[in-house]
Amino acid sequence: MGRNIVAIVGRPNVGKSTLFNRIIGERDAIVDPQSGVTRDRHYGTAEWNGKRFTIIDTGGYVPDSDDIFETAIREQVQIAIDEADVIIFVVDAVSGVTPLDIEIAKILRQTKKKVVLAVNKIDNEKMELYSTQFYELGIGEPFPISALHGRKIGDFLDEVVKDLPETGGEAEEDKNQIKVAIVGQPNVGKSSFVNAVIGENRIIVTDIPGTTRDSIDTKFVYNGTEFVLIDTAGLRKRSKIKESIEFYSAIRALKAIERCDVAVVMLDATCGLERQDLRIIGETADLKKGIVIAVNKWDLIEKDSNTALEYEHALRERLKVFDYVPILFISAKTKQRIFKVLDIAKVVYDERNKRVKTSELNKVFFPIFKETPPPAVSGKEIKIKYVTQVKTSPPVFAFFANFPDDIPEHYRRFLENKIRENFGFVGVPLTLVFKKK
Ligand code: GDP
Ligand code: GDP
Repeated sequence: MGRNIVAIVGRPNVGKSTLFNRIIGERDAIVDPQSGVTRDRHYGTAEWNGKRFTIIDTGGYVPDSDDIFETAIREQVQIAIDEADVIIFVVDAVSGVTPLDIEIAKILRQTKKKVVLAVNKIDNEKMELYSTQFYELGIGEPFPISALHGRKIGDFLDEVVKDLPETGGEAEEDKNQIKVAIVGQPNVGKSSFVNAVIGENRIIVTDIPGTTRDSIDTKFVYNGTEFVLIDTAGLRKRSKIKESIEFYSAIRALKAIERCDVAVVMLDATCGLERQDLRIIGETADLKKGIVIAVNKWDLIEKDSNTALEYEHALRERLKVFDYVPILFISAKTKQRIFKVLDIAKVVYDERNKRVKTSELNKVFFPIFKETPPPAVSGKEIKIKYVTQVKTSPPVFAFFANFPDDIPEHYRRFLENKIRENFGFVGVPLTLVFKKK
């Protein structure tokens, strides 16, 4: 079971993205500031009343063109119904009920899934009476909110998460089984890859159950290790609208990533790394899952002896803070290095489970704390006393200091790099926490 998905739908300008940012912001900085690359995000992780969910804003997937945007909205409402657990339908109190609102409501009335109607731009108490007109949409009780001013957002979120299950640990974790999600944009070769792997008689496919209604899990044993491949390839008939396809693949990818230990982000060698890919990588890092990049269709690239190195170098420039991610060049078509993907996924999985002893950590870090301490803040000397790894899969390191809140971001990055330099953790997003001591 993956984490809950909440989708925000509604026509343009009602305040979807404002609400999205508000919900993300209700939680203390969900994104590490490091992921500057994923700022313009349309999805993110949030938590309310102890329930974690991924929230996705369809407003990020609106085509520019006037003649298809209404079709795109209808399609995306349908995708949200199929794929999300809760749908937030946002309307604008000031402009009242519009024909497009009525159309969206008509689609939403057909689902049994929970739909919460947010009447936005109710900036003060006097305006609350504007919300009752929206009963006519037949979606149930309208919730007056102001996304911009944060008004009544708490009551509203109580309702949104009310029926979601508690998120208690990673219960279904099976230690001897590596769950690998194959994610990436449409047509990069995800299904070809999965077929190539299971078509080889080197592996024994033990079971191909439809474990969830929305992705095909393929379970097999390779080199004595049990793998589950979570394939997100589309079961849905293709839309003609690029933004709808993007929305669909993003939501599918998110659901797969949430269930995996390691995500293989597949790229098409002839297209390179695109903004969408960076978003997926950023989200995988936020969810603290292992990451491997597989550049597929390598057979299509004309090569000399330096091509792979140069390609990798150019990719790493764009990956910035995700430079710890291993990159492989593969071809699902010729089967070149397809098993290397599994080998590396296993390495990343093991790294994610690794625990470094406190004594080993401090042998490395005591000299660093002493010789390269954090910069003093307004005359205060900042001293880090020690570090310990408090958790694995995902790994979390706690640093104890006299003024933990004053340790600047660049120094945190420096510490993370030192952990990687000395202890590896290839492909594994690390969490560093700073505590008072
Ligand atoms: P989207 O297209 O649905 O994502 O809408 P946006 O979030 O971009 O918001 C559209 C406009 O409405 C922006 O100018 C927002 O500042 C404004 N807006 C959003 N929420 C509120 C609100 O609660 N009150 C008021 N007065 N304006 C809002
Ligand atoms: P998906 O949408 O990501 O599942 O992509 P598919 O597996 O359906 O592949 C999309 C297209 O790319 C198909 O026409 C495949 O035959 C082709 N393709 C997939 N992998 C490779 C590869 O390694 N090399 C080449 N040349 N074509 C590939």
